[in-house]
Amino acid sequence: MSPSNESIIVVGCGVTGLSVATLLQSEYPSAVLTIIAAEIPTGHSPTADYASMWAGAHYRPTRGSTPQLKQEFDMAVRTAGRMKRIAHDHPEAGVEFMQGVEYLEDPPTEFSSIKTGDVYAGPEDGFRVLDQTELPTGVEWGCEYRCYCVNVSVYLKWLLDRFMSKGGRLIQHRLSDAQEAFEYAQKIGLGKVSTVVNCSGRNFDQDPKTKIIRGQTVLVKQQHHQTVTRQCRDGSWAFLIPRPRGGGTIVGGTKEIGDPEEQPRPEAREKLLRNAVDFFPDFVDSIDRFVVLKDNVGRRPWREGGYRFQTESVGPDKRIVHGYGAGGRGYELSWAAAEKIVALVAASVPANARL
Ligand SMILES: Cc1cc2nc3c(=O)[nH]c(=O)nc-3n(C[C@H](O)[C@H](O)[C@H](O)COP(=O)(O)OP(=O)(O)OC[C@H]3O[C@@H](n4cnc5c(N)ncnc54)[C@H](O)[C@@H]3O)c2cc1C
Repeated sequence: MSPSNESIIVVGCGVTGLSVATLLQSEYPSAVLTIIAAEIPTGHSPTADYASMWAGAHYRPTRGSTPQLKQEFDMAVRTAGRMKRIAHDHPEAGVEFMQGVEYLEDPPTEFSSIKTGDVYAGPEDGFRVLDQTELPTGVEWGCEYRCYCVNVSVYLKWLLDRFMSKGGRLIQHRLSDAQEAFEYAQKIGLGKVSTVVNCSGRNFDQDPKTKIIRGQTVLVKQQHHQTVTRQCRDGSWAFLIPRPRGGGTIVGGTKEIGDPEEQPRPEAREKLLRNAVDFFPDFVDSIDRFVVLKDNVGRRPWREGGYRFQTESVGPDKRIVHGYGAGGRGYELSWAAAEKIVALVAASVPANARL
C-alpha cells in the first residue's frame, strides 16, 4: 500500500467503530479518517440504542460447534490478546484482567468433555473445572479462568481521545442510512469519499436479520474482585461485572428479545439484586446493603448469523463496508472484528487510490 489522502468515513462511535477507526489510523496513517455518529461517548446521557455505553462489560468465552461460534471463539481469543496489551501498557484505558467464574445449573452434555488445562479464554488462562465440592447448591458445572472486564465509558473515551489526538475527526450527526454519509461528507466539505464503513450497530434497522435484545442491569457502588456468571435452569442469567478503576459493579442482567422498553423496570431491578444476594452472597449478603448508583437499559444489536462483514458497491467508486451486528459480544470480539473490517476496507480501495 502506498500512502495517499484517501478520505474514509466510519459511521458509529461505539466499540466497533472506535476499534475500526483506531486500527485504520495505525495501519494507514496517511488516510484521512472521520467518525460520524449520532451518539458519542462524551456529552449527554446515552439512549438505550447506544449499546456500547450499557455493556457490562466482561469477556465470557462461549463454546459451541456451529461455524459462527467457532469463528467467534477465535475472534474472542485474538481480542483478548490485544486487551492484555492494553491492560498492561495503558492502565488508564479501563481494561483489567481478573478471575472469571462460571456456574451452570443445567450444562449441555458436551461440557462433560471440558478438562482443567484446556484453552477456554485464551493462552495461559489458568482454566480450571471446579470440583463438585466447590459448586454452590443448584449448580452442576462450574469453572474459573483469567479474563478481563472493561469500564466501558472510560474505555470508549480513551479510544476516542487517542483517535482525535492522532488527527482523527469526529462529527456528531444522525444519518438516515449509511449511504447518506457520502452526500453529507460533500456537504460539510470533507471532499470526495469513496469508502464508508458502517459500524452503526443495527444498520439503521434496515437489515431484516437484526433484532434488539434488551438488557437491564444495575450499577452498584460496591466493587467486586472477580466477574461471576450463573446460567439458571429457567434460561435466566445472573452476573457480576466489576468496572475497573473503581467504577463499581454491574449486577445483571436480562436478555429480552425484541423488547423495546427503554425505562428500567423496578421489578427487574428487585429480581437482579435478589438473585445477586442469593447466588453470590460473598459480594453483598443483603439486598438493603446495595448502594445503587444507576439502573441501566441497553439494546444489544443482535444479528442472525452474527456480524455482517461485507463490502457493498453503491455506485461508481463508492462502497460501503459493513461491520455491524455484534449482539451481546461487541467488546470481547471488538479487535478481531476491527481486523476483519479493516481488511475489507484495504481490499476494496482501488489500486490507484491506495490508502
Ligand atoms: C446490558 C448489556 C450488557 C452487555 N454486556 C456485554 C459484555 O459483557 N461483553 C461484551 O462484549 N458485550 C456486551 N454487550 C454488548 C455490547 O454492548 C455490544 O455488542 C456493542 O456495544 C456493540 O457495539 P457497536 O459499536 O457495534 O454498536 P453501538 O454501541 O450501538 O454503536 C453504534 C454507533 O452507531 C451510531 N449510529 C447508529 N445509528 C446512527 C444514525 N442513524 N446516524 C448516525 N450514527 C448512528 C450510534 O450513535 C453509535 O455511535 C452488552 C450489551 C448490553 C445492552
